[in-house]
Formats: sequence, structure tokens, C-alpha cells
Amino acid sequence: MSSPITIQDVQVILTHPGRARLVVVKLITSEPGLYGLGCASFNRRYAAVATAIEKHLKPFVVGRAVDRIEETFRMNMVHGYWRNGPVLNNAISGIDQALWDIKGKLANMPVYQLLGGKCREAAAVYVHADGENPQAVADSVLAYMEQGFRYVRVQAGGYGGRHAPDVRPHGAPDGFYFDPKHYMRTTLRTLAHVRGVVGEEVELLHDIHERLSPIDAVGFAKEVERFKLFFLEDALAPEDTAWFQRIRQQCATPLAMGELFNHPHEWQPLIAKRLIDFIRMHISQMGGLTPARDVAIFANMYGVRTAWHGPSDVSPVGHAANLHLDLWAPNFGIQEWCRFDELHYEMFPGLPEVRNGYMYANDKPGLGIDVNEKLAAQYPPHENISWWTESRLPDGSPARP
Ligand code: MG
Repeated sequence: MSSPITIQDVQVILTHPGRARLVVVKLITSEPGLYGLGCASFNRRYAAVATAIEKHLKPFVVGRAVDRIEETFRMNMVHGYWRNGPVLNNAISGIDQALWDIKGKLANMPVYQLLGGKCREAAAVYVHADGENPQAVADSVLAYMEQGFRYVRVQAGGYGGRHAPDVRPHGAPDGFYFDPKHYMRTTLRTLAHVRGVVGEEVELLHDIHERLSPIDAVGFAKEVERFKLFFLEDALAPEDTAWFQRIRQQCATPLAMGELFNHPHEWQPLIAKRLIDFIRMHISQMGGLTPARDVAIFANMYGVRTAWHGPSDVSPVGHAANLHLDLWAPNFGIQEWCRFDELHYEMFPGLPEVRNGYMYANDKPGLGIDVNEKLAAQYPPHENISWWTESRLPDGSPARP
């Protein structure tokens, strides 16, 4: 019997080719030429993730067999004793996804085959429309429809909206100010205008991005019911999920939730009580493919569909991982797509392609994606402290971004 293939090294690749700082793990194995890639991207705390991998996880996993994905995930979750935080979950995900990539390469199969095989040939995606006024947003939706997209998220001036009257008190600090009431009014006007212009054949989505107080979110979810959204996203903050029951009792607006979740107790009750319609976790934030697979299976039993988080601060490796889950999951709902530029395609050969509103896999073994490390090194992460996540209410008090 031949000796098992083991993990020889864990390398962290940090790169900043677009808006987001990306963390990608490369697992080197004892088999010459065999390695795996995993996404560990936590845009605004990337250095903490890199340190967690290099100082804490790498010494634990080097020398272990590459074929024990389940055991490695579970031990990584508990051997630090304290668990379920975003930094460590991302670090664990980098290793977990890389092990799935390696297992696929060893089996000479794409990861979706290891999960159980395809339920569909491609994953329908949604893209983001925005604009300075309702007609500009409608024009943006129409332009996407021309390109074949059938699902479009509609925002009216980014998260929380823009151009609210400036009523901050004297001495208030700088920041990204927004007014929840102004945001609700302008968004409802925009959705009404867009639906009137684009008709019923395109699916519209909207992301509250947890900007509202719970009772305002209840009222807003009722107000948007008439626009027949595909889903309303992050209506509530993770801290306020007990309010989902109130929304459910009052309207049939489909609800998507979870991109901030990192503890199973956050998603379990929402699924089991059928309080949401789509789970939306950022799979590196959950700990990787292994827990995402588990949640997809669990959600399927309750009629809850998947809509994994897919913005530009999920690395292209993470997007590939999302796609393998999408192609397999019987309860796939939709995939968010951020339309990476040519530089990302050059840096990450195999990055999934989107045509006519569908994302396709390349059917190579494993995750089917690689990284050009020389090119990645040309775009080192740089800090950008002043950013939209320093959000403030009209009186200057801190708010969720
Ligand atoms: Mg979102």
C-alpha cells in the first residue's frame, strides 16, 4: 500500500487587483505538481486571516493526509477551542476549499461531481443595477436585459441611498451619511419606476444591507410586496433576526439572508422555521465548502434555496467554489455575479465565464481554477481606511454599512 499524500506547505497569496483585497490559500502536497487553491478572502481584515493561517493552521495541518477533508474541517474548527469567528472561519475555508480542489484533481473530476453531479448545466446569475435617478436605474436594467441577464438587483444610490439632506450637527465627524427614511422613499419610487419601464418579464431584487431599524424593515418589506421581487435581501441585521417572524406574518415578499452569518445558530432557526426563502452566506465566512454543502442539504429539506454571496470581495477561487455548489444543489436559487474584469481572468485562469445570464464551469478536475502568482504579486494589498463602511446616521452616530 502506498503512503498517503500529505500536506507539505500552506502558502498565502495576498492580492488586490480590483476593489477588494483577496486572500487565496495554496496547499502544496507531497505529490509533485499536485496543489489545491482555496478562498479565504476577508477584504477588510485580510492580514489577520493571513496570520491565522500562517501562525495557527499551517503548523496544525502540515504532514496530514490530504484526503480527509471532513476530519480536517472539523478539527480546524475546534482545536483552537474558541470558534465561529470571521477571521478563523475564512482561514479554515482556505484550507477546506483547497482540499476539495485536490480531491477533485486526484479523482480527475470537477468538484460538482464529488458533490453528487449536476442538477443543471449552468447557474443563473444576477447582476447589480444602480443610478443617479430612477430613469438611470431603469436604463441600467434594460442594458443588462439586452446582454441576456434575467435577474437584476436594483439599488437607488448604493446601500442606504444618497443625496439625503445634510442635517449633521456642528462638529460631527466625516463618514458615509445616510438617512433611513430618505432611503426608503427614494427606493420605493425607484422600484415603482423601474417596474413600470422594464415590465414583468425580468426578475428584480433589492438589498437593504441591514440599514433599517427592525420595524422600518417590516414596513418596507410590506411596501415592496407589490413589485414582486425575486427576493429582498438582508432586511434585518443578524442581531435582529427574531423580527423575521413579524415580516412573514405580514407579507409574502421573498426573503434572502445571511452574508454576514458565521455561526450555525444564525442560519439553523431561520431555515427550520421557514422564516427566509434564500440562504446567502459568504462561503469562506462559514468555513468553506464543507459547511456550505451541509447547509444546502439542510435547507433543501425545508424548501429554502441557495443564493451564495458573490461580490468582488469573494476571490475568483471562491466564485469557482460557489459555482460547483450551484451546479449540484437541487435547491439552487440564484448566484450573485460581480462581472470581473480582464485582469482577474488573466490572474485566475479558469475563472467561470458568464454568457447570456448563465455561469458555466470549465469541467476541469477540482475547482477548475488556477492563479498566476507572478501577476498576483504585482498587485499587493494596500490600505484604504476611509471607505463607505464608516456609515453614519443623520446625527453622526455610527450605523451598519
Ligand atoms: Mg448583500
